Amino acid sequence: MGNLSANNIAITFHDIHSRDWLRRTLQAIASRYDFVSIDEVSNFYHSGKTLKNTCHITFDDGHKTFYENSFPVLKELGIPASIYVSPLIIIEEKNFWFQEIAGIEENHFKQELALFLQLEEASLARFSIYAILKSLPVDDIHAVIDQYFTKYNRKRLPPQNMNTDQLIEVDRSGLIKIGAHTMNHPILKNETDERAYDEVKASIDGLARLLGKKTAYFAFPNGIPLLDFGPREQKILADCDVSLSFSMEKKRYSQADHHLAVPRNALERGGPNLVKLKLLLGKSWYQLKNRLTPANEISQRIHFQALYSTNRTTAQP
Ligand SMILES: [Zn+2]
Repeated sequence: MGNLSANNIAITFHDIHSRDWLRRTLQAIASRYDFVSIDEVSNFYHSGKTLKNTCHITFDDGHKTFYENSFPVLKELGIPASIYVSPLIIIEEKNFWFQEIAGIEENHFKQELALFLQLEEASLARFSIYAILKSLPVDDIHAVIDQYFTKYNRKRLPPQNMNTDQLIEVDRSGLIKIGAHTMNHPILKNETDERAYDEVKASIDGLARLLGKKTAYFAFPNGIPLLDFGPREQKILADCDVSLSFSMEKKRYSQADHHLAVPRNALERGGPNLVKLKLLLGKSWYQLKNRLTPANEISQRIHFQALYSTNRTTAQP
């Protein structure tokens, strides 16, 4: 019962295509939880503030539907939230690598991946393209995507994310706090020490230039502990004066967590309140749940990394 009395959750959203859906979801959550701002969550970790039955809402990546759909609903309901964006993507009005390949023909793209990685196409059959790409440094991800788009003369998608003016307006609202999310959305663990540091530092400095103030908040790209980030990345954040960072570990947050790996996406864990919430959310619950990284992808990544590293080792004289 002790756990229940300190039942606090953080939820991640990405792109939201229906204001109604978000309004209904937030109202259902509001019937069980009090919404708190990121500053309150930070005080919970750093100043011992007591939180009970609270929910903090986050949005990752800065998709343009945040400005178009989510921001108006949050303002209407007076719900504080934090969002995690890349200043590079915002300023240059570019897409993240995973947005570039949305809707791509997977098997066709896999042929290119096999060429790029010098692996047999058949050996990639059991892996999703995301499991493969999330095992590579981000420069390689960009290189193979560029190679594919150039070779087949594919059209790029228009910019999917907020622009500078929109981000500044969101910041000025005071309701939404903006945190960093790297520049290029790498899986930080796949990068060299230097590149991992640069991705973090440049995103914090870039946001400071854009917004005229330095953020103390960060969300790890993809965010799975040990697979996407580890102690090295937490040390980088500490060196960059980040005071709170989110992972995608799916459990309630509590003072037992490291403040640079605060869990999010608690909704699918058991517990009477959460069961009621699931019933309350109905169809919305399943839509929310579908946004979580499939467990299958995690095991595919581990298997692909083993295959790829073996192959590289044996390929070298
Ligand atoms: Zn992200």
